[in-house]
Amino acid sequence: MNDAPFNNKAAFFDLPAIDALARRLKIDPHRVRRARVAYFKKSLSADAALAELPPEVRDAFAAAVAFETLTDIRRFDSQIDGASKLISRTTAGYAIETVILRPSTGRTALCVSSQVGCAAACAFCATGQMGVAKSLSAAEILDQVVQANRLLAAEDRRVRNIVFMGMGEPLHNEAALHETLATLGASQGFDHPPSRTLVSTVGVPEPLLRTAERFPTVNFALSLHAASQATRETIIPLAKRYSLDVLRSAVEQLNAMQPERTSVMIEYLMLDGVNDSDADAALLLDWLQGLRVHVNLIPFNPIATAPHLQSSPRHTIEAFGVIIRNAGHPTTIRYSLGRDIDAACGQLVRDENLAIAKSLRQVASQDLSAAGP
Ligand code: SF4
Repeated sequence: MNDAPFNNKAAFFDLPAIDALARRLKIDPHRVRRARVAYFKKSLSADAALAELPPEVRDAFAAAVAFETLTDIRRFDSQIDGASKLISRTTAGYAIETVILRPSTGRTALCVSSQVGCAAACAFCATGQMGVAKSLSAAEILDQVVQANRLLAAEDRRVRNIVFMGMGEPLHNEAALHETLATLGASQGFDHPPSRTLVSTVGVPEPLLRTAERFPTVNFALSLHAASQATRETIIPLAKRYSLDVLRSAVEQLNAMQPERTSVMIEYLMLDGVNDSDADAALLLDWLQGLRVHVNLIPFNPIATAPHLQSSPRHTIEAFGVIIRNAGHPTTIRYSLGRDIDAACGQLVRDENLAIAKSLRQVASQDLSAAGP
């Protein structure tokens, strides 16, 4: 795991590093397992995890290990639909968002961030317009799960589904994503079934296929948003690099790699007058032909940086859905939760992160000028 400098401590999430430390301190592996159960599965504190270790090694272990990597956690609860947003601070000082969704199905879901900002810069996304793009470490991603489970424990709930739909393009942070997925699924880690994890991408084919090869039972979502190459390029800059044909071939390969029961989620943001006509639906049907997919139509939450983009009206979304469904593709209209807490990622922390990035740049330039010629 590449989480090294938490003040030169190993992250408790880093299973191989902690195993190596335990060997060095001659700690019985069963005691380490109990500490992990306390922290990862019971969502207890670092002190409670340390209490599972033999008293004579606790101080040495605590001195070498970083538990919480996120700090300054602030909570915002929706007053309309049971969503909660957590804003926390990374080791570098940036603010990230994590959203807890409590849908009526009772299946609590957690939307995690994988980056601060996002280099993909999609026109419809507040995170992409943040002007910052920094990858999180695996420990910072996994700590979002711990923090959410701690909060949910008070409600007698646990995170059931984990979705990588928060800030960032997870496949631009591939190494940390793989470490995160490995630790989530490991029996010594969170023991979280991979089938309850979903990685969402705007379409970066090579890392997508590498990830599926290593984690074939994890679910994947592709943010397609348009089946016309020209339209897609106007809202997703990465579309110029990876064409619709290339993405279609990637989904075909995903279908071949994954179990028969697994479909790739196709996310389609409904944008008024941009991608929501009958002709757009026909293009989408062409693109979907022969693929094992589930189509999610998503009403758009407008953002300040893209006033020209508005959501399609409800009747248009429903009519579009009928066309896709009648062609035999399972289709769901997803009404987003947490509208009153700006659950659309990036909206609450944008200005905060811009200010942090600016002050870090100033510190860096002061350091450089202090270093002198
Ligand atoms: S939609 Fe996803 S990939 Fe696009 S800018 Fe936002 S976070 Fe990045």
